[in-house]
Amino acid sequence: MSDWFEVRTVAQDVHAVMEPAHWEQVISYLIVGRETAVLLDTGMGIADIRSLVRQLTDKPVTVVNSHYHWDHVGDNHRFDHIGIHAAEAPFLEQDAPEELLREAMRPENFWGPAPPDFDPAGYHIVPSRANQLVDEGDVLELGGRRLQVLHTPGHSPGSICLLSENEGLLFGGDTVYAGPLYVQFEDSDFHAYHESMKRLSALAPDLELVLPGHNLTPLEPEILVEMAEGFEQIAAARAVCQTTDSAWGPLRKYEFMRFSVLLPRET
Ligand SMILES: [Zn+2]
Repeated sequence: MSDWFEVRTVAQDVHAVMEPAHWEQVISYLIVGRETAVLLDTGMGIADIRSLVRQLTDKPVTVVNSHYHWDHVGDNHRFDHIGIHAAEAPFLEQDAPEELLREAMRPENFWGPAPPDFDPAGYHIVPSRANQLVDEGDVLELGGRRLQVLHTPGHSPGSICLLSENEGLLFGGDTVYAGPLYVQFEDSDFHAYHESMKRLSALAPDLELVLPGHNLTPLEPEILVEMAEGFEQIAAARAVCQTTDSAWGPLRKYEFMRFSVLLPRET
């Protein structure tokens, strides 16, 4: 196995593929059914996730992207079958923002050694092309396991979560994780995010695990309720914010216990 990835089996035939040596702490998930497997996101593209996946399953693998951002689509180009929400399919074919890639490659952002054949100076995201559009209500049948697509816009317009209802597993992508939640992008939408969180928090009583796209995994479903309450407080102007500097310029930051919410300074 590659030294770059750390694999943790979080449920039966569900493997979290983590990249612990980079501060982004991105997590992709390999979800294996009897017939086929879904790889939810392909990570940063720093090491070859496809050969890792090949060691974990011999089933045909479909990539599904939780959204189009570069840190989740880095190894898409190694796969033949890629699904994403229609709102974001065109973005896979475009170049990722150069300044964010350079920022990510700063030595202090590596918490451990990169693979020996990796060259940070030449780091880029190879564009890829979707050949499947996924949307609200779609069901991915893996054989003995069904993944429902939930369209949960907010972080980005085509952000999705995947739900395995009978197992109580929610894959949160960049919509749900413990850490700073990014709602500061031009195509982020606070109101849509708030609606998405209301919907996800209503699922919490029926869930066993939340499997997020960054940082700690798994999380207990209670985080969904906390997040929905945080968004509610911001929407009702009952939350305290600070101004903070970032790679995206000055932002408003709302701090909560296990997460924070970043918004543009002006709205
Ligand atoms: Zn993202």
